[in-house]
Parts: sequence; structure tokens; C-alpha cells
Amino acid sequence: MSSSGSGGRGIERRGLMLVLSSPSGAGKTTISRALLDGDDNLTLSVSVTTRERRPSEEDGVDYHFIDRARFDAMAKAGDLLEHAEVFGNGYGTPRAEVERALAAGRDVLFDIDWQGTQQLKAAKREDVVSVFVLPPSTGELERRLHSRAQDSPETVRARMAKASDEMSHWAEYDYIVINREIGASVGQARSILEAERLRRERQIGLHGFVGNLRRG
Ligand code: 5GP
Repeated sequence: MSSSGSGGRGIERRGLMLVLSSPSGAGKTTISRALLDGDDNLTLSVSVTTRERRPSEEDGVDYHFIDRARFDAMAKAGDLLEHAEVFGNGYGTPRAEVERALAAGRDVLFDIDWQGTQQLKAAKREDVVSVFVLPPSTGELERRLHSRAQDSPETVRARMAKASDEMSHWAEYDYIVINREIGASVGQARSILEAERLRRERQIGLHGFVGNLRRG
């Protein structure tokens, strides 16, 4: 998990796992994209899923769309770092991609639900930084789900019903962002990432660095 320099700082550091969770429609995907834009040291973990691809989605970019047999085989073989059933579909994080990124000294961003977050924390607590994104109100959540217009009305209804369940897990997260205005929320998420990168225990090259400073 150790890695060489990041962001030009030059101190050897350990990659972190930044998890974003929220009910569907709270703005987590928009925040994820903004975080990835212009941050060379952050890489997205692309999940596998058995759900249907939405028209706007690209295979291999938004998800790896796979069938149930393949999903079950990956889970059985231990190829998924975590996996869960959400809205009747299988979702999971491919282990190899994440381990490759962390080994290369990159931080990894996860857009996963509370079940996956619990599993990641159980496996790698000190490397996980978890953020829960809340909508400002129920009305706004519903409006955002409808305006997305990629899902059928039944799916929107099911997602609204599920939102309350998902939100009940907010207290399991390290940070809470209430997404009133997307620009402000992105700024808050960036601040969390920046501060967590500066944690002493992640900057594993500090011993040598400070040793050199003290020797003059
Ligand atoms: P959607 O179908 O709207 O893309 O995602 C539905 C839910 O599944 C979201 O809460 C999303 O964060 C979650 N999800 C996406 N990928 C994964 C994954 O790999 N593991 C887990 N546990 N949840 C995921």
C-alpha cells in the first residue's frame, strides 16, 4: 500500500480510499465527477453490476456491465473487494483494479452504498475515509430523481422508498455533506480529501524527511 510522492509534494505516502455514499439522486455522482476532474492522483473504482445500462452510461466507464453468472463467479472467486445487492441487482468492486491503483500510490474514489462501505471498513479501516451525501429535503430528492428521467416511474418510486433506508446509515460515516448547492458540496468534498491526504500517518515518508531537516 505504500507509494511514492503525490501531487508534487514528494513525501512518500499511502493511498487512501475515499467512499461516497448517498441515496440515489442526492448528487453523489456529480460530486464524484468533479473530484476526479483535475485531480491526477485520484482514480475511480469502476464497479461491476448486473443492472441494465442507462442510455447515458458507457460500459467500462460508469460500470462494467456483466451478467449474473459472471457476477456470482467473481464473488465466489474472491475477485470482489466488497459486493452487495441493491434494488435487486448485484453491485461489486473489482479487487485487482483497486489494489493496482493503491500500489501505484493513487487514491481511489468509491461510489458505493452503505453495505459496501461497511465491508471496506471491515477490511481496511485505516485506509477508508467515508462521506455521506444528504439531499437538502425529500422534495428536492424526488425532483432530482424525476429530472434524471432515465429510469421508469416504478424505478423512481422504488428509489424514493429505498432512500429513507439508505439515509438511516448516515451516522456510520466519517463526514456528512448536505448537498444544497453543488459547487459548495464539491468544495467541501475537496477539502475533506485534501485534509485526509495530510494526515500524519498517511505521509509515511515524513520520518526520513524530518530526519533530513533536523540534520540540516
Ligand atoms: P445506480 O444503479 O443508481 O448506479 O446505483 C445504485 C446504488 O448502488 C448506489 O447507491 C451506488 O452507490 C451503489 N453501488 C454502485 N456500485 C456499487 C458497488 O460496487 N458496491 C456497492 N456495495 N454498491 C454500489
